[in-house]
Amino acid sequence: MPQINLPMEGSCRCGEVRVKISAAPMITMACHCKGCQKMTASAFSCSAAMPTAGFEVTAGEPVIGGAHGDGIHHYHCPRCKSWIFTRMVGMEWFVNLRATMLDDATWFAPFVETYTSTKFSWAETGARHGYPEFPPLDAFEGLMKEFAEWDSSTVMNTKT
Ligand SMILES: [Zn+2]
Ligand SMILES: [Zn+2]
Repeated sequence: MPQINLPMEGSCRCGEVRVKISAAPMITMACHCKGCQKMTASAFSCSAAMPTAGFEVTAGEPVIGGAHGDGIHHYHCPRCKSWIFTRMVGMEWFVNLRATMLDDATWFAPFVETYTSTKFSWAETGARHGYPEFPPLDAFEGLMKEFAEWDSSTVMNTKT
């Protein structure tokens, strides 16, 4: 797991919504799916799955955006519309925070990349594991265990 100083804080682009993280992430991911490409206006999204108990909105009132009826609730700043975090219906125990919202995200490196089937050929993330779509749910227990023991400095130090 990356070296992280808790608690961490973050905000949307305009600063109206602020969040506080008081627990270490369970896993970090980069997602190359078409939805993430559209919502980030970029090649992939960067996210850190946090236990819900260690996640708090400390300012502002995020609004739910994203597609309708798929059970995936994307939370945005009501003013600048930044995509801040995601919750899944039926999986209330974790929150998927967009890592780029953190005041200091320099520790972030994706451990898993998903939807490599729609990845840009030039988009490289350095992730340890890649899946053509989402990993099967029963893979997460092993991935999270491995993430906890992962020395992310091996990724961070590849460029000199
Ligand atoms: Zn905002
Ligand atoms: Zn995605």
